[in-house]
Amino acid sequence: MFRASVLTLYPEMFPGLLGQSLSGDGLARGLWSLEIKNIRDHGLGRHRAVDDTPAGGGAGMVLRADVLAAALDASAPADDPRPRLLMSPRGRPLNQARVRELSQGPGVIVICGRFEGVDERVIAQRQLEEVSIGDYILSGGEVASLVLIDACVRLLPGIMGAAQSGQEESFENGLLEYPHYTRPRDWEGLPIPPVLLSGDHAKIARWRHEQSLQLTRARRPDLLKTD
Ligand code: SAH
Repeated sequence: MFRASVLTLYPEMFPGLLGQSLSGDGLARGLWSLEIKNIRDHGLGRHRAVDDTPAGGGAGMVLRADVLAAALDASAPADDPRPRLLMSPRGRPLNQARVRELSQGPGVIVICGRFEGVDERVIAQRQLEEVSIGDYILSGGEVASLVLIDACVRLLPGIMGAAQSGQEESFENGLLEYPHYTRPRDWEGLPIPPVLLSGDHAKIARWRHEQSLQLTRARRPDLLKTD
């Protein structure tokens, strides 16, 4: 079973949207599991301090290496086979290929950063893989962890209704998806493209592929580069 463990300073943000819809149903049916760990349980002193001022000066606070390592060591034994992911704008950008890989593994251990980030030393010492969900800055890793886990969980066996629905989507074949239409047949003067009503499946498949290519060329030419 796919097991997700999340280390956070805001445990009350979970399961959040993972408790709803596809992922929530899967959770209730035991198709995957979610464990939330409060980093503050390993905080220091009476105030359970987890952060401190940056060495060298500057704005903000930094999550302490000793506190984060203690939280991690208590949540996952050293031989836990799951990758340890640190949500971080400096990380490798998450994509569908990595999501698919993760979803086929034993699960994930996800660390949500806060403040200015985490002490650099814990990243190397605990072999954390930094993962970014895009080139912008969030206020914390919690939203990013929800994104990552949602993307993984929907690919797990038994989660999605139509089995093929995971295969035809944007990125799965390196292209953006073709446009969709449904009833009514005419809407505000716009008809559904006639080919889709032709019943000719080969023709429809060709049309969709052509549309995918055109959209990808126009919007995401970077996806077509092969190197
Ligand atoms: N000072 C850092 C940003 C800290 S934002 C920098 O400039 O790189 C606080 C936390 O939010 C981070 O530690 C990380 O866990 C999370 N976060 C912010 N943006 C993110 C992104 N694009 N992807 C993944 N996590 C992100």
